[in-house]
Amino acid sequence: MSALPRITVWNEFRHENESEEIRAVYPDGIHNAIAAGLRKHGLEVQTAWLDQPEHGLTDEVLANTDVLVWWGHKVHHEVDWEVVNRVHKRIVEGGMGLVALHSGHMSRIFMKLMGTTCDLKWREADDRERLWVVDPTHPIAAGLPECIVLEAEEMYGEHFDVPAPDELIFVSWFTGGEVFRSGATWKRGLGRIFYFRPGHESYPTYYNDDIIHVIANGCKWAAPNGLGSVVRGNIKVGPEVARLQSA
Ligand code: ZN
Repeated sequence: MSALPRITVWNEFRHENESEEIRAVYPDGIHNAIAAGLRKHGLEVQTAWLDQPEHGLTDEVLANTDVLVWWGHKVHHEVDWEVVNRVHKRIVEGGMGLVALHSGHMSRIFMKLMGTTCDLKWREADDRERLWVVDPTHPIAAGLPECIVLEAEEMYGEHFDVPAPDELIFVSWFTGGEVFRSGATWKRGLGRIFYFRPGHESYPTYYNDDIIHVIANGCKWAAPNGLGSVVRGNIKVGPEVARLQSA
């Protein structure tokens, strides 16, 4: 990988095109708001969206992506399985990272990686959200306050049907008293996955410096680190093994 991870921010990009209210929040699309924020953290960022040919995720784009950031919501079913499988292969065999945001919990790629329903409970009622850092030693929490407060967000509540995370970094509390595992990591094959909850389309969450800081940290953590080589398959007996076997 290059010194700086190369990020592709993928967006469904339908709410912003179909709703005046959402376009007022994200006039250039959610992907461009996130991309602009990540660039301030020194990351190399390109964008892609659903209605491009091959959803903007060609072999060439994926080959030049260290971490894919995913925002989807209302038309997960329109994402072609051929593209989903291509992204999956790039993650588990190629080591590309995935940062799944908000309603990306129900995206085909995230569900395929998790193997569970990924369902949860939700409410759109301007809840206040408090995101507590529960693992201050984790690189994704680097430089953050102990708690990020979002004055209005959609509520996501447990139970969140995902496999037990490898690491839990954030737990959210909402005005209604619900809690949620809002920042968690998993490894699948050679790939690292970070799920981060905030970012409902009707709120200006992706302009929040702390939220972008988390996503930037998540991209840096999920990028392939270049360490280790993988050897698999039938290994013939070479001189070294023969020497050990005859010892
Ligand atoms: Zn939402």
